Amino acid sequence: MMRTTYAVIHLDAIAHNVAQVRLAAPCAKIMAVIKANAYGHGLQRIAHALEPHVEGFAVARVQEGVRLRKAGIKQRIVVLEGFTHTQELDDLHHYQLDASVHSTHQLNILHAQTTPALLNVWVKLDTGMNRLGFKAHEVPSIYEQLMQCQAVRKPLNFMTHFANADDKSDPKTPVQIDLFTALTAHYDGEKSMANSAGILAWPNAQTDWVRAGIMLYGISPFADISAAQLHLKPLMSLHSRLIAVRDVQAGDTVGYSGLWTTPHATKLGVVAIGYGDGYPRYAQHGTPVLINGERVPLVGRVSMDMITVDLGAHSTARAGDSVTLWGEGLPVETIARYAQTIPYTLVCGVTPRVDIVESA
Ligand SMILES: *Cc1c(COP(=O)(O)O)cnc(C)c1O
Repeated sequence: MMRTTYAVIHLDAIAHNVAQVRLAAPCAKIMAVIKANAYGHGLQRIAHALEPHVEGFAVARVQEGVRLRKAGIKQRIVVLEGFTHTQELDDLHHYQLDASVHSTHQLNILHAQTTPALLNVWVKLDTGMNRLGFKAHEVPSIYEQLMQCQAVRKPLNFMTHFANADDKSDPKTPVQIDLFTALTAHYDGEKSMANSAGILAWPNAQTDWVRAGIMLYGISPFADISAAQLHLKPLMSLHSRLIAVRDVQAGDTVGYSGLWTTPHATKLGVVAIGYGDGYPRYAQHGTPVLINGERVPLVGRVSMDMITVDLGAHSTARAGDSVTLWGEGLPVETIARYAQTIPYTLVCGVTPRVDIVESA
């Protein structure tokens, strides 16, 4: 089948990227974070590819964990948002999933449990993110309550999440590390702090488990360091084709709102990709697009199914030529900068209309 718009998942890069996590955190167990459809790369595909290389998985929601068990994943799976009602707790038990416990609402549900089954719990501590978790002063009391809870397996495990680990100069991260270390020093059980930025930038955040997300997909967690500099290989590339090449005159306006006026006569390329595929609508003029190995600038407004590029007056590009929106030779981090977003949103945002092709 001749595909027009498709993403390639380079599965062979996974083992390489996991090896980079191991190099950075040689003493820690790796929890591969595969929430949100494995950051848009395909939950089951990525779980199976990672299975031989990691000790566990983390997802955000109970349904994601259930999907992994149904796909035959046997490793430990941590549900980072935990549960919000009894039915979810039943699923956690039934599918043997670990749960984050971050609120007194969850404690009440646990205390009301009558089933004899035991739940693996990760107590989430809020050390500065101010999103989920118990504050430092609550920890001793929460600890006692959970220790007395029949429905909870002992020892308890602990985790926290960094607010700004990708900024190596932010003094907040060492404060979070020290607080978590002090709060959990006298408790048994396993501990986990670091996300990708933590793994790479904050070696003393490496406890029993590290939670690697974005770096597994070959994307840099830092704005100022490229994936190549970190020896990471991108897992996803996004491709389409030129569907038209047109001559435009100086002064013509192109696309919705006539946002771009041609400064000189040129050849305009129309590419079959748009925000309906997950290409960012806010990509600015000049966002690079790779056609026949050459970077050409995006011009005009991104529409649902198409974008327009300035091929240049002397271009030999023709309808049918293949186009790379991001991938080898054009990092997704670059596109994110032009679209004033982060690469996470771009890979997560590829829509089901885009065919996924695996390359091993
Ligand atoms: C998403 C997430 C991670 C992974 O973060 P990356 O920046 O992708 O490495 C780790 N821990 C928690 C709690 C998360 O929500």
